[in-house]
Amino acid sequence: MHTNSHINPVIIASENGRAGAIAGMELLHRGGSAMDAAELAARVTEDDPEEHSVGFSGLPNLLGQVELDASLMNGRTLESGAVAGVQDYGNVISLARKVMEELPHVLLMGRGAERFAGEMGQKPADQRSFASLERWRKRFEETGVELTGEELRHLVTRLTVPMHLRDRVPHGTVNFLVRDSHGDLASAVSTSGLGWKYPGRVGDSPIIGAGNYCDNRYGAVACTGSGELAIRVSTARSLILYMKMGMDLAAAGQECLAEIEQLSPRPGQYMNIVAMTPDGQHAGFSTTAGKRYLYYTGEMAEPQMGERMTSEPV
Ligand code: ASP
Repeated sequence: MHTNSHINPVIIASENGRAGAIAGMELLHRGGSAMDAAELAARVTEDDPEEHSVGFSGLPNLLGQVELDASLMNGRTLESGAVAGVQDYGNVISLARKVMEELPHVLLMGRGAERFAGEMGQKPADQRSFASLERWRKRFEETGVELTGEELRHLVTRLTVPMHLRDRVPHGTVNFLVRDSHGDLASAVSTSGLGWKYPGRVGDSPIIGAGNYCDNRYGAVACTGSGELAIRVSTARSLILYMKMGMDLAAAGQECLAEIEQLSPRPGQYMNIVAMTPDGQHAGFSTTAGKRYLYYTGEMAEPQMGERMTSEPV
C-alpha cells in the first residue's frame, strides 16, 4: 500500500545511461512506476545503434555472435527476472521482465529464452550488426590472434585480458537504479557481456545478487566491469546486506571494493558499482580511479555526472 505519492523521483545510472535516464525520468514525472521506468531506460539503451555494449549492436563473443544478458528487480516485492546468452532478440530487459511476470522462474538461458521471446511476441533480428562483425574482425587483427583450430579456450585470455591494451578492455553494460514518486525502487541491468568471451560465458549482469539487487527497505545496487569478480563475492547483494547490518552507503561500498581487491583481479579486470538508498542518497564506486556515474533527480533539469569513489588506502 502506498501512503506517500510526493517523493522526489531519482535515477542513478552507469555513465552510458544518459538517454535512458532522460526517458525514464519523463515517465516518472508522468506518474510511471520504478519498474516501468527502469525497463524503459534499459530499452532505450538497448535500441541505441551507437551503444556497443548493450543490445543489438553489442560486443560479440569469440565466434562473432552477440549474446545478451539482462536482469530486473522489483524492490517492493523482491521479484526478479533475468535472461542469459540470448541471441537474435535485442530487448532482453523486456524479456527478463516477462520471465518475472509470466513464468514461475527467475532466470532463462539460451535456446529456452529465445523460444520464450517468440512466445511473448518479440521479433527476431540479426544481432551480428555490421559494427559488431567489424569490431570482431579488427580485434583479431590488432592482437595478431588467428581464429584457427578447435580450442577456443586458448584465445579467451589473450583477447579479453590484453595487458598492452588495458584502456581498451572490451567491457560495457548499462545499470539503472530507480526510485519513483511512491518511494518504490527498481533496478535494471542489460549487457552484451564481456567482449570476445567464450561462447556461453555469462557474467554478473543477469545474476541476481551479483550484478543487480534491489530492496525497498535498504536500497538498490548494480555493477559493471569484470562480472567474474562480482559473481565470486556477490557484490550487489553484499552491499545491500552491509547497509542492512548498519553500515552507511560509503562504508558498505568500500567494503565491497575491498572484497573485490582481495580476489587478486587479473590484469585488466576491474569493477564499478552504483548504489542508492531508499531516501535517495547515491554513490558510485570503482576499483579504477577516474570513473564516473550518472545521477538525475526529479528537480534537476538534466542528468549530471558524479565521481566514483575508489578504495581507501589501508
Ligand atoms: N559486467 C559485464 C559482464 O561481466 C560486463 C561489463 O560490465 O563490462 O558481463
